[in-house]
Amino acid sequence: MSSLRFNAVDKAFCRKPVATEAPSKLTSDYYGKNVFNRAQMTKFLSKGTIKVLSDAIDNGMPLSRDIADHVAAGMKMWALEMGATHYTHWFQPLTEGTAEKHDSFIEYDDNGGVIEEFSGKLLVQQEPDASSFPSGGIRNTFEARGYTAWDPSSPAFIVDDTLCIPTIFISYTGETLDYKTPLLKALNAVDKAAVDVCRYFDSSVKKVYSYLGWEQEYFLVDEELYATRPDLVLTGRTLMGHESAKNQQLEDHYFGSIPSRVAAFMRDLEFEAYKYGMPLKTRHNEVAPNQFELAPIYEEMNLAIDHNLLIMSIMERVAQRHHFRVLLHEKPFAGVNGSGKHNNWSLGTDTGVGLMTPGKTPTENLQFITFLVNALMAVHKNDGLLKASVMTAPNAHRLGANEAPPAIISVFLGTQISAILDKLENSSSEEAIVMDEKKKLKLAIAHIPEVLMDSTDRNRTSPFAFTGNRFEFRAVGSSANCASAMTALTAAVACQLIEFKSEVDALIAKGTSQEKALFDVIKKYIKESKNIRFNGNGYSDEWKEEAAKRGLDCETSVPLIYDKYITKESEKLFESIGVFTAKELEARNEVKWETYTKKIQIEARVLGDLVMNHIIPVATRYQSMLLDNVFKIKNVYDEEKASQLSAQDRSIIEEIAEHIAAIKTKVDAMVEARKVANKIECERSKAIAYHDEVFPYMAEIRYHVDKLELIVDNEMWPLPKYRELLFIR
Ligand code: ADP
Ligand code: MG
Repeated sequence: MSSLRFNAVDKAFCRKPVATEAPSKLTSDYYGKNVFNRAQMTKFLSKGTIKVLSDAIDNGMPLSRDIADHVAAGMKMWALEMGATHYTHWFQPLTEGTAEKHDSFIEYDDNGGVIEEFSGKLLVQQEPDASSFPSGGIRNTFEARGYTAWDPSSPAFIVDDTLCIPTIFISYTGETLDYKTPLLKALNAVDKAAVDVCRYFDSSVKKVYSYLGWEQEYFLVDEELYATRPDLVLTGRTLMGHESAKNQQLEDHYFGSIPSRVAAFMRDLEFEAYKYGMPLKTRHNEVAPNQFELAPIYEEMNLAIDHNLLIMSIMERVAQRHHFRVLLHEKPFAGVNGSGKHNNWSLGTDTGVGLMTPGKTPTENLQFITFLVNALMAVHKNDGLLKASVMTAPNAHRLGANEAPPAIISVFLGTQISAILDKLENSSSEEAIVMDEKKKLKLAIAHIPEVLMDSTDRNRTSPFAFTGNRFEFRAVGSSANCASAMTALTAAVACQLIEFKSEVDALIAKGTSQEKALFDVIKKYIKESKNIRFNGNGYSDEWKEEAAKRGLDCETSVPLIYDKYITKESEKLFESIGVFTAKELEARNEVKWETYTKKIQIEARVLGDLVMNHIIPVATRYQSMLLDNVFKIKNVYDEEKASQLSAQDRSIIEEIAEHIAAIKTKVDAMVEARKVANKIECERSKAIAYHDEVFPYMAEIRYHVDKLELIVDNEMWPLPKYRELLFIR
């Protein structure tokens, strides 16, 4: 009998909710208390320093060393008052999550003692030993060291005893080694490009912000059960496990009542998040059993991404206090839904106008249509690139696997917006866009009603959907750094807006009126981008055929999808606005291919070990028990009767033998395939070999293991089953 499994199941099922630490105080009383925000700045910094720092935060103005010294001094005072003893530059290398290296504040003083020191120099720059972060060979070839540099636009915060300073991470030769640097560059580019376009409609616009509201899906598993599943511990997903008789087919989990253990966890998580100034707004059950979601109110994109990374790490810590483990993997369990992270994206002006929001006035409506059509064009031209920006080994289990978004990027606009675009396409310039008496351009053709916000007109199968005042990029994976997807999208939109403006201006220069120039280009774009629009069912086979006919990117192989980053078009796109050089794109792709290979390699090894050490020995033991039984029957009964009575056992014995044989053959073949793949030097070819030659064995092996799970005595089965893992009491 497998005591490990049964002990774990017992413990998990009897577990009571842990008392929450969340206070009964008003949230607003402690909101943001761990953050060096503007309220804290006024206590610890002079008015002059705040003014210069605000200019840096709001307008990207450079900070002098003098000011950095002042800020550091104030930050240190605040941090010491908060009980911090250490500080760290908190950055986003090309691995998952964030990295940090803690240094204590102490320095020797002149009297043989120590004092707490923190200068502007330390605030602004730190040198982590960069050689062990993935860089795709950039550092080998050029410069061994990298450094982190302060990002003043995201406020410092305190975790436990450590002051964390959000930073970018670059090599000494200037190449980006992280997610944040290119994101900031792309945000800057789209700000400029969007302001230029806004000026057609409103000359007072000075800045355009990018906004992001992410929805984080995750699973919870009891820590005891987690500990008895080496596959979960080592790879984040179950590599085997037969479907539970009951999973999500009753659709009783979504928006159902939250189990009390989980509710306690969520309350503590929110309490923690509020201390970091994260505006968490919603929490609910998701579709699959044990699957949940949390979402904040949207924020400026750079901050929203930092908050998402921070919450992912806080979740893990809070979960452990509640004897849970958080699974952020995109597909922890086969047969039930995986987890994504919808990225709700929009642009808005410093004058308070949402550029993805149907306007209150006909002028705003025209501006809205302009930005909507440009977003459409950006996705149309870069569908493959956008897919590459979200594609990872774990996310490949979702995309195209017939559940969450398909591996084909298309845009859902809904019936009303589609109708407006159709109308524009079929009207003349004079009907559609006019200059009003106040010399403002306006959309004359249609009134755009606000009912769009109504959720009835929503398509859940679309990877990129317009949802009333924003686009929802749903293909992002639950464990991903949103910056990857948001950098690609933002850069694509920035380039598109630049092109739009140059086309409109070229027409105006030739003597076309501004309203006709805008109309002509918008109309052209509506026609050109038609192929990317799709309002139907994204899961259907007909769509796959149709999409291929339309020339959309239908590639499903992860390593090949990454090629889209290094096409001539993508290189031009990123280089033209200074987000990535071609060299950086190549280096980052090396990292992507290598990461893919390693993920599959680890999974394949864990699977091999598990079946050889856990599954086959148990199946063999059970088979031998059955064989004993057959012998015993034979000793007691005559031949005919014995044959009759042992028929069932004998058939199971054979079945087990067949599965074991198949598993062994396939594991051997998988090991061979790995050996061949490991010899390949080129990262791209190696990743392709892992995708084409190694990965397919995993499902084949799993098939036989899952069959064995149904046959072998339940008491002997060593690993917690899906029905035990998936239902928190
Ligand atoms: P759902 O898509 O599940 O209905 P919600 O309505 O709760 O989700 O919203 C999801 C996210 O979208 C939230 O983070 C919300 O703040 C964000 N959001 C709403 N409006 C915008 C906007 N204009 N720009 C960016 N994000 C937005
Ligand atoms: Mg959503």
